[in-house]
Amino acid sequence: MRNEDFNQIPLNRVVRVGQNSLLTKDLFCVSWILGRFCNYSCSYCWPYAHSRKPDHRPLSLVKQTINEIKRQATQRGFRSFHFSFSGGEPTAHSKFLEILRHYASDRNSMNYLSTHMTSNCSPSIKWFEKYIKATEPLDRVSVTASFHAEFAKEEEFAEKLIFLQQNNVKVTINMVMVPERFDELWNKALYFHGKDINVTLKPQSNTSATKVVEGYTDEQLLRLRTGMPQMDFTSKHVAEKKKLNINKLSPVLQVKLTDDEGQDWFMDQAERFNAFDFNQFKGWECSAGYRSIIIREPDGTIKRSYSCHDKPLGHIEKGFQLFPKIQPCITPTCVSSADSKIPKRKPGTGLPLWPEL
Ligand code: SF4
Repeated sequence: MRNEDFNQIPLNRVVRVGQNSLLTKDLFCVSWILGRFCNYSCSYCWPYAHSRKPDHRPLSLVKQTINEIKRQATQRGFRSFHFSFSGGEPTAHSKFLEILRHYASDRNSMNYLSTHMTSNCSPSIKWFEKYIKATEPLDRVSVTASFHAEFAKEEEFAEKLIFLQQNNVKVTINMVMVPERFDELWNKALYFHGKDINVTLKPQSNTSATKVVEGYTDEQLLRLRTGMPQMDFTSKHVAEKKKLNINKLSPVLQVKLTDDEGQDWFMDQAERFNAFDFNQFKGWECSAGYRSIIIREPDGTIKRSYSCHDKPLGHIEKGFQLFPKIQPCITPTCVSSADSKIPKRKPGTGLPLWPEL
């Protein structure tokens, strides 16, 4: 199935799931919270997610960690990498562009390199010009933009995102659809969508981040499950900049799900899984920790992934060791999309989690 009616996917019969690029490439995936420092102080931000004081590790340690991840991953055959940076605010890291330059510096000896950041997109267009230059050697660059109305102006925010797309950066705006403000947030999402910018509609999670909060109507839930499917707006903006015609806008279908009869289904983003309550993989064989890790500052823990109850793999200052083999999931709910997109399968299916290396 390659249409956008995600409601048709028989989720109760799915036996393997993962981001398509992870299933089809020798790709090792890193998700890295660089620190909690943020240049905004939004009234609703969780205290643990935010700090007014810079709390970043020295550049030399960040570079060493990138090298060590690549060393351990290439030893087991992975020669493609995806590094995703968040915070706090990653662009507020004074050495962020140097980190990206270092990450990109061995592109010629690797098969594929991509990067992502989750950002409030507060820097100026001039800064983004440098960002585009720093990431030029990479195969794919993407940004999840968080709009914070207390600090950002809609029009200026949209202008920056269109500029990024014109320069071949994939963009989506994160919109947490709080049930009490659903209509207001929907209208805001429509404003950005009307400017050909993707919007990721996220259901609000409870405080322990284990379930979607109560209070959505059936109609609102349907919109969260199927509304505003991601489209390749970046190609459209690139074509417009070059004054070329684009005949058809392609859907973006990043996630592949295989059912128990071997049929493949596709969804635009793993961010929708929570809206479907599709986030329980306890007992499944999960490749997180073997071909992916997360680094969480400010404590410096290196883990299998964010939701996982497993013991940490190590620490940014003391070193870390990837799992020697695929491990079963021991965690009741896999709530972060950074976790749920990592390929996993029901035991006994034998379906591959990455291409033969
Ligand atoms: S919670 Fe962790 S181990 Fe379990 S499926 Fe998610 S990423 Fe894998």
